[in-house]
Order: sequence, then structure tokens, then C-alpha cells
Amino acid sequence: MSVLVTGGAGYIGSHTVIPLVAAGHEVVIVDSFVNSNAAVVDRLEQITGATIPLIELDLRDREGLDRVFATGDVDAVVHIAALKAVGESTSKPLEYYENNLDGTFSLLGAMARHGVTDLVFSSSATVYGEDAPVPYQEDYEPLVASSPYGQTKVMIERILTDVAHADPRWRIALLRYFNPVGAHPSGLIGEDPQGVPNNLMPFLAQVAVGRREKLTIFGDDYPTADGTCERDYLHVDDLADGHLAALDAVRARDPGCRAWNLGTGQATSVMQMLRAFERAVGHELPYEIGPRRPGDLPAFWCDPTRAEAELGWHAGRTVDDMCADTWRWQSRNPEGYPEQVTH
Ligand code: UDP
Repeated sequence: MSVLVTGGAGYIGSHTVIPLVAAGHEVVIVDSFVNSNAAVVDRLEQITGATIPLIELDLRDREGLDRVFATGDVDAVVHIAALKAVGESTSKPLEYYENNLDGTFSLLGAMARHGVTDLVFSSSATVYGEDAPVPYQEDYEPLVASSPYGQTKVMIERILTDVAHADPRWRIALLRYFNPVGAHPSGLIGEDPQGVPNNLMPFLAQVAVGRREKLTIFGDDYPTADGTCERDYLHVDDLADGHLAALDAVRARDPGCRAWNLGTGQATSVMQMLRAFERAVGHELPYEIGPRRPGDLPAFWCDPTRAEAELGWHAGRTVDDMCADTWRWQSRNPEGYPEQVTH
């Protein structure tokens, strides 16, 4: 089967390509390179031994997207492409709504015109908002995210639910990611944020490799075991496997739209993550305690029961695996991918 992966050159997309290819699918990547690097494709070809066509395209380019589908070579879509920086989304809300929503409208239109109705959508734990009880369960309502980024995920979930309700050809998976970290064990691909990393793991990795002076822990007075925030970190390769499992499941299930949490069900604190990363690196890392980051929730993690039961999927890689693999990627690629190459 031929699978179009939007955002396939990005952090999660690139890792997702690997199990799709290993399962025998032909993968085509569509990516705008706004937040990714074409160099990833050569690395993916090294890892998979497959040729992976790459189309540079903004999803909002409707004519360009139509040409991709017109080849007749797309059977299903994994839609990961989106702007994703939570903080930035509050200062550039229009850009986020415009990009994430219109990109999705354009994609859905092209899919409908070409009779492609199997879709795996990249959603987020942020859709549960501030009031959901932990562990988060998929049936929780109402979904109200606290950032424009999160709201784009809530809105797209709603749109996809309505689309599947109106037209029984659609088979749609909504994958609510918890905190993806880690890298492929080859050390060839990994997370390569532009500028100062917003997220904990890439920041830690850049401290370890000497690109940042020290980690600032955002608050140690939360009502958690050690006072630092707790999250459900999962290995990006487990997350990648989750996309394949979801694609298989939607094709085997009755039509419709269904949400699955992808997480481990375990909470790990910032301090525990720092200590685990130190074990991977083999020495202590400099840090300081800073003020809380506005908007951070003290602790959340998922109930992964539904994904385990219905997708036959389980996030089994450990926190130590996550740190060891991140460190392998970062130490072998201290500056990330080479300068942007044109493909
Ligand atoms: N965090 C931190 N220092 C950093 C980046 C993150 O202490 O430089 C903390 C942050 O407060 C949160 C946790 O690490 O409690 C995970 O943050 P991240 O941004 O990676 O994920 P999210 O907030 O989206 O769950």
C-alpha cells in the first residue's frame, strides 16, 4: 500500500516512515521544510534501504497537492505536518490557525476528490486541557486546549469526527501523543529544533553536548513527589509504531473516527529525566531551579488501555532507552542536521 506522510521529514514524521517501510508500504513524504531538513531523507534511505520519494510542498498549495494525488499512488495518509510550538502559537495565533487548519482543509479536499479516505491524524494530549482528571482517557469531554496550537488540534479532531459521521467511507484515527522523546537507535535521525529548544529533552541534549550552559528547571514547588512537573514521556520509535498500528486498525475496523492515547501510562518528573540523562551521558549536568513556566500543568499522563486493547500497541521502551538514544543522536550530530540542503 502507498502511504503519504505529511510532515514526513520532521521529527515524528521521519521516525514514522521507518516502521511503515518495514511493514512493506511504499512511503511518499510531503514536507514544506519550514521546520525540517531534507537531509533526513538520505538518512532514512540508509536506515530503511528503500527509496523514499520526497515532495517539497506546503499543504495549502492546493494545485500542488492535487498533482500528488493525481498520480493515483496514494492509498492512505498519515497527517503529521503542522506548526507545533505551543508558546509561539500564543504570540502568532493567526499563523497557527491558518497553517494547521487550512493545511488540513486542503488535504481533506484533495483526499475526497481522489477517493482516499483512510487517515491517521497527529493529535496531542494538549486537547485534554487543564481540567481533565489524570490519567487522561479518550472519552473525556469537553476538549478545550489552552493554547492556539492545542486549539487547532481540538478543532481538527472535531472536523474529522464530523467528516467521518457524514460520509461512511472515511476511516480516521486521532492519535493523541503524550511527550515524544528519544531518537532512532542508529543515531542517524533525531530531534533538531531550530533556535533555543522549547522542550525538555532537546534542551537537556544540547546542555550535554555543550551548546547550552545549563538546564533551567521550570519550578520545583509543584504538588508532585519531587516538586518538579511530571509528564508521560514515550520513545519516538514507540510513537512511530503506533502510527502503523493505527493504520492497520482503521483499515480493519468499521468506518468512523476514533481517538487513541499514545503514551506509556507512566509519569516521570523533570528531575528524574535529568538524572536519567546524566546516566546516559555518564556525568552530571549543570542545572538551576527557575520560576514556573506559565501554562505548565503539574502532572499528566495517559491511560493507554484503549490503544493496547484495540491497536495491539504498547510503549515498551524505557526512560533509559529514551535518554541513551537521544544522546547517541545528539553526540553524533552536535549541531543537528547539516545546513539545509535542497533535494
Ligand atoms: N521543562 C523544564 N526546562 C526546560 C524545558 C522544559 O523544566 O528547559 C519542563 C517543563 O516545565 C515541563 C516538562 O519539562 O514540566 C516538559 O516540558 P516540555 O516543553 O518538553 O513538554 P510539555 O510542556 O509540552 O509537556
